[in-house]
Amino acid sequence: MENLVILGTGPAGLTAAIYAARAELAPIVLKGDQPGGQVTITDILENYPGFPNGISGYEMYQAFEQQALRFGAKIVTDTAIEVDFKNLPFKVKTREQVYETKTVIIATGSDPRKLNVPGEKEYVGKGVSYCATCDGFFFKGKKVVVVGGGDSAVEEGLFLTKFATSVTIVHRRDRLRAHAHLQSRAKANDKINFIWDSVVTEVLGDQQRGVKGIRLKNVKTEEESIFETDGVFIFIGHIPNTQIFKGQVDMDESGVILTNRRQHTNIPGVFAAGDVQDPIYRQAVTSAGAGCMATMEAEKFIAEQEGTAYPGKLE
Ligand code: NAP
Repeated sequence: MENLVILGTGPAGLTAAIYAARAELAPIVLKGDQPGGQVTITDILENYPGFPNGISGYEMYQAFEQQALRFGAKIVTDTAIEVDFKNLPFKVKTREQVYETKTVIIATGSDPRKLNVPGEKEYVGKGVSYCATCDGFFFKGKKVVVVGGGDSAVEEGLFLTKFATSVTIVHRRDRLRAHAHLQSRAKANDKINFIWDSVVTEVLGDQQRGVKGIRLKNVKTEEESIFETDGVFIFIGHIPNTQIFKGQVDMDESGVILTNRRQHTNIPGVFAAGDVQDPIYRQAVTSAGAGCMATMEAEKFIAEQEGTAYPGKLE
């Protein structure tokens, strides 16, 4: 019987692991199919406190993991495929085995939202990408399009100007959602252009050369056009990885797990932290904070169940 199984190794999962290992709970931490999560595809985090010169997402993941290992977290290369939270002990079935545990922290993060238009799936890896850090280099001297108007679209668009000759941001409205400082940087960059009020209706190309262009529709005039490009980078938000928890914990209609202010789900002993329960802030630092809170709550839950005193002061 485990004390705590943590699902996910993004900033939320690994911070939960650091706190739990340090509290001698010997947590099992399942890496999942994308170890490190979304942060690993972030080129550089400039706003994580303590790194005045920024830190790459991958380096941050490695540092988190080393810190958790140092205190004795058991980090396992495996993925949860089914859970049973109906009774205690909870059961977490992975590809390799079944864990029985007193508490669970769900920190399975999120995946990029897709446009779901013809050609998108077909040209993934052949011009369609959801990760500028991973694929930007392949677009040296080429023209790319970025879809979206949030912080990710603008930040990644700015990053792509290191490689591409031009970066055209296609947004479905006439103004960006991104923060003002990113907007100013994008508007001041000669390589960045905008196509407003427009949606991508098709990704065009051929199997040999990959992406050649996109079909666009102006949502105000309904006018259709074709825009030539070598690459399409899509940054239109994320979908929480909560499929296996459906029917086990309460979620909203978009699959975001509902938690209270102390990371409790509706099931006592099951907690959630990071992108799976936070559709608003979605920062490495807020996810890390939530991971810390989830572990402190799990520790308290175990102490209550076992009639032992919790060392902290949580009510
Ligand atoms: P987001 O803020 O949800 O923005 C998604 C963008 O995609 C929006 O502009 C949205 O348009 C557009 N969009 C959504 N669905 C679409 C569709 N089907 N077709 C076309 N466009 C679509 O997502 P995000 O940019 O990934 O940011 C997520 C969170 O992470 C935010 O809280 C953000 O502040 C944070 N973040 C912060 C930083 C930073 O601080 N440096 C960097 C990256 C992300 P509308 O605007 O019309 O809704």
